[in-house]
Amino acid sequence: MYREVILDHYRSPRGKKPVGRVDIVQNGNNPSCGDEICLKIEVEKDKVTGVNIDCQGCAISVASASMLAEYLKGKSVAEAQKLGETVRKMLRGDEIDIEVEFSEEFEDLGALQGVRQFPVRIKCALLAWIALLEGLKKYNNGKGADNSMVSTEDES
Ligand code: ZN
Repeated sequence: MYREVILDHYRSPRGKKPVGRVDIVQNGNNPSCGDEICLKIEVEKDKVTGVNIDCQGCAISVASASMLAEYLKGKSVAEAQKLGETVRKMLRGDEIDIEVEFSEEFEDLGALQGVRQFPVRIKCALLAWIALLEGLKKYNNGKGADNSMVSTEDES
């Protein structure tokens, strides 16, 4: 069943609209599969007002990035951070309480959990979220718009 959710996001990825102003830009790659992402975020008064994603890669990396684009809009910077950390935890197999962490709004994210059965694919799903967390870290340090690259290889 999770395949259908993944395929839906893969076939019509969210986050294609350009953002008005680039407050955060973050490139990321996943060398083990060849997936690449460029994430751009517009922030207005501490809220994410635009998310643009250019992701070239396998179905899982594209679907995961699409979910990120869908869920991030309208969230505060702190909420975006919390979401990113929660998804990373989930994909690493750490214990999270889905009931608490994910409301119905985020139910598609449950589809990413199926990826854990295929360890080689975990980094594909992680790519967008580690790019988000790195971009937010830079943003919080006043360097959100600095061009930089993060790699899933840096994930322990
Ligand atoms: Zn991949």
